[in-house]
Amino acid sequence: MCQEDNRRIDAVLGRAATKLGEVSDSARLDAEILLGLSIDMPRSYLFAHPDDILDDAAFDRFDALLQRRLHGEPMAYIVGTREFWSHELLVSPATLIPRPESELLVELALREIPRKAECNLLDLGTGSGAIAIAIASERLLCEICAVDNSPGALAIARENARQLSLGNITFFEGSWTQPVRDRKFDVIVANPPYVRADDPALARLRYEPLEALASGQDGLDAIRVLAVECVDILSDGGVLLLEHGAEQLDDVASLLATSGWTDICNHRDFSGHPRVTAARRGGK
Ligand code: GLN
Repeated sequence: MCQEDNRRIDAVLGRAATKLGEVSDSARLDAEILLGLSIDMPRSYLFAHPDDILDDAAFDRFDALLQRRLHGEPMAYIVGTREFWSHELLVSPATLIPRPESELLVELALREIPRKAECNLLDLGTGSGAIAIAIASERLLCEICAVDNSPGALAIARENARQLSLGNITFFEGSWTQPVRDRKFDVIVANPPYVRADDPALARLRYEPLEALASGQDGLDAIRVLAVECVDILSDGGVLLLEHGAEQLDDVASLLATSGWTDICNHRDFSGHPRVTAARRGGK
């Protein structure tokens, strides 16, 4: 094969997809996205021009991206975005990559928020802002406070809200409820870190911020804090919605009950795994 044939789009894609097969379940798609990015063209261009020859600069750009993916870096960080609730969101190594499972948290929150009345919602540990943004885009009368401890994550979350022209989210930097202790909310949502500190799965998630994933020996340290802190800032009858690991179902329910929460109820995600626990705060 001559040098030129080696650099044809179809040949480059074929070789890259084979290599990526060792690290990715979506090798061909990954190769197409990375090549599109390298030549600043949509993926459709690749199908229409399989015999285009990549110049040196484009080939080198592609190879650099390919090497990152081959080392296990998630596509979302290489591309810089991930879709959540039909919004294309910026992500960075300071934020978790939004998971489709977390859309359950959004669905459950939306059930609690009236379409035509005001409502105050708090999103704790907002990260890229995915959950707050999804809710804000569906309920324009809902005033949302979104808190995160990480300035890097908040910069991304603010930019995501700005790009979608969402004016109903206010972002705060701080630890859990600390920046909003003088307020009351009708709904509180959180996708806190909940992975056990010694969980071998953390190796696979090594590109994501550890503080957004791991939470003590049993993975429940953050949820323990939230179960206590959220009591004081929820309106009477208000609801707390917490994402957690499937195997944490019973532990989450019992620690919420210990802190005086009522109507504790679990909801399963689209894979059938217990994923979100709802709890209410009764009147005093
Ligand atoms: N669901 C994530 C995972 O295990 C964990 C997210 C979290 O800790 N909030 O990949």
